[in-house]
Amino acid sequence: MNKKVVELLNAQVNKEFFSAYLYLGISKFFTKQDLPGFASWYKVQAEEEQEHAMKFYEYLLDQDEDVTLEAIAEVKINLKDALDAAKEADKHEHYITDEIVKIMDAAVEAKDYRTQLLLDWFIKEQEEEEKNSKEMIAKIEMLGNDKKNLYLLDKELGGRKAD
Ligand code: MG
Repeated sequence: MNKKVVELLNAQVNKEFFSAYLYLGISKFFTKQDLPGFASWYKVQAEEEQEHAMKFYEYLLDQDEDVTLEAIAEVKINLKDALDAAKEADKHEHYITDEIVKIMDAAVEAKDYRTQLLLDWFIKEQEEEEKNSKEMIAKIEMLGNDKKNLYLLDKELGGRKAD
């Protein structure tokens, strides 16, 4: 495989695991806010991100390439409220989309059609992720960004702690 494509795919394994970590940080914030539905929604996102990381990981090994498991960066977010959290997630998904596109650019340049097929899936997935994060912002803005108003959305997102 093309060296640059391999390097970028390797880096993406780490970025997807960091995404999982970031979502876990957001989930934790909502647990502390007594909004378990939001917490559970973001925990599910964290699990999805681990699956993304593993797709890249498996792909590299399937191509007989190596995978470097680098340190996952610390999550340094200082969230004020639900809207702030939703915006943080949305910003991050746009960043990830940009990174996927960069790998696609390299794969196109290298005429690496197999990697392009893998990345097709991720480009579609990122469209979905951006749609979800944008919808979350819209819902919070419609309801009003305080806990009293977010209670119903919280129930819709994941049920109550006591169940
Ligand atoms: Mg992802």
